[in-house]
Amino acid sequence: MNKIDNNSSPSAPVVASPHVLFPLPYAENALEPVITAKTMSFHFGKHHKGYVDNLNKLIAGTEYADLTLEKIITSTAGKPEKTAIFNNAAQTWNHTFYWNSLTPRGGGEPPAALKQKIEASFGSVDACKKELASTALSQFGSGWAWLVLASGVLKVVKTANADIPMTMGFTPILTIDVWEHAYYLDYQNRRADYANAVLDKLINWEFALQNVS
Ligand code: MN
Repeated sequence: MNKIDNNSSPSAPVVASPHVLFPLPYAENALEPVITAKTMSFHFGKHHKGYVDNLNKLIAGTEYADLTLEKIITSTAGKPEKTAIFNNAAQTWNHTFYWNSLTPRGGGEPPAALKQKIEASFGSVDACKKELASTALSQFGSGWAWLVLASGVLKVVKTANADIPMTMGFTPILTIDVWEHAYYLDYQNRRADYANAVLDKLINWEFALQNVS
């Protein structure tokens, strides 16, 4: 029997097989003009959905069929023969986390408790945003820029392709998708413009605070 745990906590999609495509936390056009409805319809409706569908196909009837998404990710990470399962599981998780890292009225000042933590780690909110943007830009090829918690300290890291901070012992706090499918329809090759616009207008500091707490 398939078990479905309807835990709707956005930072912890712990649904067992069959994995579901969580609905977006806002309308497809809600992030305009920074991210258009056209980009969202492909990114969410085709790419993210594709990862979920592929994952369900790949794990059907296997030892992974009844595991939570996070357990599938941690138990396939670093195993070359399980790359396809890892990639689709991690991308399923990463995208749900990314949608929640954005919000239509995002950007601006972080809540005080988060701001204090950011200032302790980076000196200022601007310095933190600058490092996130430069990291998003410097990721060669597809991947992700992340704000993470590492031994109680906030830091910025990048990962390639589907790689995910939880396999490195970090707690993810926020992410920016820097795969071309995330920005190419709206920004073409201008990845820095996309990253800066996301940080200024969409980044969800409230979500970050929940993940830090
Ligand atoms: Mn993506």
